[in-house]
Amino acid sequence: MNFYESTLDTIFTRIEAVRTAVNQHQIIKLVAVSKSVEPHHVETMYQAGQRAFGENKVQELARKNQALSTLPLEWHFIGRLQKNKINALIDLSPSLVHSCDSLELAVALNKRLHVKEKTLSVLLQINSAKEDSKAGVMPEHAIETYLAIKETCPNLVLKGVMSIGAHTNDVALIQQSFETTYRLYESLTPHGAKVCSMGMSEDFELAIRCGANMLRLGSVLFT
Ligand SMILES: *Cc1c(COP(=O)(O)O)cnc(C)c1O
Repeated sequence: MNFYESTLDTIFTRIEAVRTAVNQHQIIKLVAVSKSVEPHHVETMYQAGQRAFGENKVQELARKNQALSTLPLEWHFIGRLQKNKINALIDLSPSLVHSCDSLELAVALNKRLHVKEKTLSVLLQINSAKEDSKAGVMPEHAIETYLAIKETCPNLVLKGVMSIGAHTNDVALIQQSFETTYRLYESLTPHGAKVCSMGMSEDFELAIRCGANMLRLGSVLFT
């Protein structure tokens, strides 16, 4: 039994405790955010049974993907995407990009994907807490932006929404931000939304209570 098996076991026990209390039928996917660790930790986590990993920088995703190319890992991109990194990201064929945060970025991605004759699965990032420091579309523009991307970007496969919880110790405010995202997610399910990515190490149990079905956990797994 490697060290990360017991870590994963502890985390899944915590996830399951909330999940079963909230919704027996909801499957919750865990993305292990590996941005703070070197590839050999990712490999050990993989051996413990984890397949999906998240990185927030294109260069780091490229480096770790390269170092671990023999393993059947699923890479998620969760960070701010600069325009000059679009080609590099597309060439890495990530399994899901959580951080499509504007129609403009979607159109730029779509253009490059069209040239390369590829498609890319993405989530629309929503700035539910309306924080200046955060990326994402404002909640009041989320639906129209989602539908506009669907309409104008045939090489993007929109899978749902992503949010980072409000940056505060006030649990009520964090909950509010998750609820805002969940409500938008619900309105978008008739348009094909299947993923509601929210919840990090400090707030994932609350996120599950608010309807998250994809968690992005870093520090709680790797430290
Ligand atoms: C770093 C990061 C996470 C994981 O954060 P932890 O608090 O370490 O769990 C999740 N989502 C995004 C977008 C991140 O940048």
